[in-house]
Amino acid sequence: MRLILLGLPGAGKGTQAKILAKEQGLLHISTGDMFREAAAEGTELGKKAQEFMSAGALVPDEVTIGMLLERIAKPDAAAGLMLDGFPRTIPQAEALDQALAGQGSQIDAVLYIMVPEAELMERLTGRWSCSQCGAIYHTQTKPPKTSGVCDECGGTLTQRADDQPETVKARLDTNRAWTEQLADFYGKQGKLHEIDGTGEPSDITQRLLSALQGVSAGSEKA
Ligand code: AMP
Repeated sequence: MRLILLGLPGAGKGTQAKILAKEQGLLHISTGDMFREAAAEGTELGKKAQEFMSAGALVPDEVTIGMLLERIAKPDAAAGLMLDGFPRTIPQAEALDQALAGQGSQIDAVLYIMVPEAELMERLTGRWSCSQCGAIYHTQTKPPKTSGVCDECGGTLTQRADDQPETVKARLDTNRAWTEQLADFYGKQGKLHEIDGTGEPSDITQRLLSALQGVSAGSEKA
């Protein structure tokens, strides 16, 4: 089975991708993780990607597509794929379709984890960290005992620029634009499944698994 997970930041895409890949015996590929690893190793690819990642921009298609196609051509990808963070542009989606068709396969389903904007804002702007020891808190899931004060060391809690409302809103808007283009692209292929991404993570996993029940892995139809 070859699957793609779509979802805005904060929708829980990365977490669910890992769980589903394990459940279904698929190779989990996150292009974000691949770029971060390459950057940490200081490879040419990593250096190039880092420039774009630091600017909050997409890494150009020619770099991203090449890296992904090389990865899915490796033997361990034959078991099936769980793509997380790829594709992010229509040319990436088209290149993927073409490469899979060349292997006699195809994307079987695209699962779009949907969460209302207000909830995403709450999830993404709730993170605070201690300016002294670095401990992380979340207003919803892990609040400190005293607001603004670290439980561990009594340090002051601060919010990273990335987690401030205006920055988060801008990130959601940019991501929504390409996510919806891709949802439309795969919707036209009849492969899109919209999944309710609210509630407990285990419930979301169950919804994803039930959506997959009707999907059969297969080679490309003629
Ligand atoms: P992520 O962890 O998926 O949010 O990815 C982190 C960063 O890696 C993104 O902000 C982009 O700069 C880059 N990136 C990851 N996947 C892609 C992709 N498919 N196309 C372009 N850039 C990507």
